[in-house]
Amino acid sequence: MRTVTARPEPMRARALRRTLEAQRDLIEQITRRTRRAVREDAQWEGEAIADTAEQCEADMQSDLDLAMLAIHAELLQEIDEALSRMDNGTYGHCVDCGADIPGRRLEALPSATRCMRCEEAREAAVEWKTQASARRLADELASLPG
Ligand SMILES: [Zn+2]
Repeated sequence: MRTVTARPEPMRARALRRTLEAQRDLIEQITRRTRRAVREDAQWEGEAIADTAEQCEADMQSDLDLAMLAIHAELLQEIDEALSRMDNGTYGHCVDCGADIPGRRLEALPSATRCMRCEEAREAAVEWKTQASARRLADELASLPG
């Protein structure tokens, strides 16, 4: 836990900042795409009366899109907050217990605000659906180059 700084600290900080900025760009792209899809759904629903099954499917997709938008807004906020913490020097400290967040955890999740133990305690209380959506997004983020 204490010997994670194999690379010089400034270099890691720069790499983490780049990762956060890349994540922010990707989420903003996805958000724009999702907003467009939601708008198009709304237009389509105004123009045509679909049969019940189609309508139901479209409604479910819209609900899912809206849920994703909410999650993305939250993630964007987390990323912006992480970038601010980098600027004010509080980055890398657990917001709950104040402990240093291990570098390996930050590299896996640069916007992490909690140490693993506090995060696990928190996640236990989070709804399964939210976690599933977050995992899907995390998979997309993990596929980013570099
Ligand atoms: Zn903690």
